[in-house]
Amino acid sequence: MLGGGVGPRGSTAAAQTAETASAALDVLRKSISVDVHTHGGTSGITSQAPPNDALANGMLAGSLAVACLADVPDGPILGRNAAGVLGALRTPEPGQLYKYHLGRLDWVDEMVAHHGLRRALSAADLEAAHAAGHPSIVGDVEGLDFLEGKLERLEQAHQRGIRHVQLVHYTPNDIGDFQTGVVTHQGLTSYGAEVVRACHRLGFVCDVAHATEDTVKQAVKVATKPLLLSHTALSGSPAMGPTPLTARQISRDHARAIAETGGAIGIWHFFPSLEKYVGGLKEMADVVGVEHVCVGTDQQVTPGSLQDYSQWVHLVAAMLRGGFTPEEAGNIAGGNYMRVFRAAVG
Ligand SMILES: [Zn+2]
Repeated sequence: MLGGGVGPRGSTAAAQTAETASAALDVLRKSISVDVHTHGGTSGITSQAPPNDALANGMLAGSLAVACLADVPDGPILGRNAAGVLGALRTPEPGQLYKYHLGRLDWVDEMVAHHGLRRALSAADLEAAHAAGHPSIVGDVEGLDFLEGKLERLEQAHQRGIRHVQLVHYTPNDIGDFQTGVVTHQGLTSYGAEVVRACHRLGFVCDVAHATEDTVKQAVKVATKPLLLSHTALSGSPAMGPTPLTARQISRDHARAIAETGGAIGIWHFFPSLEKYVGGLKEMADVVGVEHVCVGTDQQVTPGSLQDYSQWVHLVAAMLRGGFTPEEAGNIAGGNYMRVFRAAVG
């Protein structure tokens, strides 16, 4: 809270809320805000829903400029095992995940053609859409499990408008080890290193979410551009509290490795409240610096503190109430991702 404020401005809790909401809108007018990892909520890309207006409407309601909308190629084989832990339940058939991924790209094409979203292929596109007040998406893929060793499929994804890719997810692949799986590669493979270089060459944001600390540290050695780790929280996060997601949290060293590349770490929305979420941002900022923290909600069906984008402006208001300056809030809400995007995509 602002604390101790006496006088005409913000002298009641309601007045403080109104005041920070207006300050938050000002932040969102000045800077391009980005959810760096989302599936677009309950009727989004991981749902069975047909293409629809919900995402654009929610973004407009909360003044969110950009959603990095992630298709999940291994979605068809994911589920919870007997212990309730999410993972790949079977080995995919050859071509199965590639085919599913292509179907999801068609779904995104429909969203862009008829449902109020612009697809950004460059930083200039993001700037133009923000200036015009149009919500936009960055095409994103969570897990390169559809490549099956064929780098030309990465090039094809670029031609289809994808500008952001995550190396690994829940399905064992030949790129590197992931946090919730059995370690088989001792980090990044030589093919994985080739994929990182291909991301740089083709112009993708390279996202190392879900990768093990060893995979990330080896990717950092290969990387010549800033890396993104789009959705996580600091290991043992007091703001999150007890959670089944501890295996997906990251250590201080893991976080620092990303910051060393000039990159950014997105904090997911699995916190009990927006205030606690801001606590999660602060925990990470204390380790890597505020210029390396961003917002990657991971919105889909799971409840979280930002399940509805009409809350976006209230998240920024909570950042301001929590002690971030307007400039810091603008950078966390999008500026830091824009720096990574400009370096990686142009
Ligand atoms: Zn994920």
